[in-house]
Amino acid sequence: MTMANAFGAEHFVRLSQDEQTMIRRREKVLGAAYRLFYERPLHFVRGEGVWLYDAEGQAYLDAYNNVASVGHCNPSVVEAMARQAATLNTHTRYLHDAILTYAEALVAICPAELSQVMFTCTGSEANDLAVRMARTCTGGEGIIVTENAYHGVTAVTSAFSPSLGPGVDLGPHVRTVRPPLSPDARADAGAFFAREVAGAVADLRRHGIKPAMLIVDTIFSSDGVIADPPGFLAPAIEVIRKSGGLFVADEVQPGFGRTGDAMWGFQRHGLVPDMVTTGKPMGNGYPMGALMAKPQIVDEFGHKARYFNTFGGNPVAVSAGQAVLDVMERDGLIANAKDVGAYLKAGIEAVAQAFPAIADVRGAGLFIGADIVENGAPSAQAATRIVNEMRKRFVLISASGLQGNSLKIRPPLVFTRQNADHFLTTFKQALSSIYIDRCRLCDLNPENGIVQK
Ligand code: PMP
Repeated sequence: MTMANAFGAEHFVRLSQDEQTMIRRREKVLGAAYRLFYERPLHFVRGEGVWLYDAEGQAYLDAYNNVASVGHCNPSVVEAMARQAATLNTHTRYLHDAILTYAEALVAICPAELSQVMFTCTGSEANDLAVRMARTCTGGEGIIVTENAYHGVTAVTSAFSPSLGPGVDLGPHVRTVRPPLSPDARADAGAFFAREVAGAVADLRRHGIKPAMLIVDTIFSSDGVIADPPGFLAPAIEVIRKSGGLFVADEVQPGFGRTGDAMWGFQRHGLVPDMVTTGKPMGNGYPMGALMAKPQIVDEFGHKARYFNTFGGNPVAVSAGQAVLDVMERDGLIANAKDVGAYLKAGIEAVAQAFPAIADVRGAGLFIGADIVENGAPSAQAATRIVNEMRKRFVLISASGLQGNSLKIRPPLVFTRQNADHFLTTFKQALSSIYIDRCRLCDLNPENGIVQK
């Protein structure tokens, strides 16, 4: 499948001997399914905070990676992991205080109804488990997802991940719905999305399929980042519940403070999901995932099936997870995501005033999407060009969305206003270098950014 910002073979000849050798080794040993980012791939050897360093020692400002959300190689997380790894690393079949303390800490940052937690190693596993639990509790099979959703890599979750492209079949029990992205849909986003979900429920029923769940990434990452208006998700949740299905909030991307409003993306919509799945930033790079659920759901599942995940919730994992929560609290990272995110978004909106290529800016906290158009139409090619111009200037972003034309700006939560200024200066320079003749409101200087008239 094509992927936004994927390295293409046509760029191979322009790479250095060393880069070509590494790419050949990769292709030989990793095979055809892997993709590299950028026209000129990056080779990082070290990370610290919001910075990644390549093999030559060049620093890159990371405005893309949300896994290392409390900063690359955060010393508190590294120390907690190392200490526990040197002490004991077993699994959840033995009593262990840190497992219980962390599980209690996790449910304490969830709504009171979601009082139980099950550990996994990845977001895909958490979503896979959510499907098993929803099917057990509802007796239904049907799954409703957004039209360009990504929910995971397993056989079950890839069958409800339409963003993997036409080469990956959706299950016969899966229906897709449009998120409120078009201007018409946005005019009444809640009603629009509820109608979409009602249509999907009706279609499942016509095919004799009972709905099991609606699963939504509550910041709509792969659909192009949709945050507003707050609350628009709520009517659709009523629809799925009335149909007998459950609502699963996939918090793999928005969870752990990214949206700046609260710990979880669903809180922006004033909702309490039946289940919440999470992963990526949970262990700041240590592979961790979890499912938080209402106890009735866990009970019903647990009485039929036993659950054990060999590595999920092991003592090293929970030490990493606990350290992440402690650092977030100590350093006020949710408030930082709100403050720096709003500052960055306002800066991007100001740049958009000068460059008509930026058609729309959306987002919440430190998750921002910006649509790129060419002659008024979505342009993945133009978005890719901007991503690569940023990379040439040592700033990392990527692109996503159904049309591949939404810039995806999603830095670690430790991003500062100073980092945001650095980003914005580089962003102006990158855009100026491409749209030298199409800038409104500005005198252009591709070397130094734009000077507002
Ligand atoms: N859900 C969402 C919304 C994701 O973005 C991802 C990962 N990109 C997953 C689930 C799957 O997580 P993992 O890669 O840890 O299996």
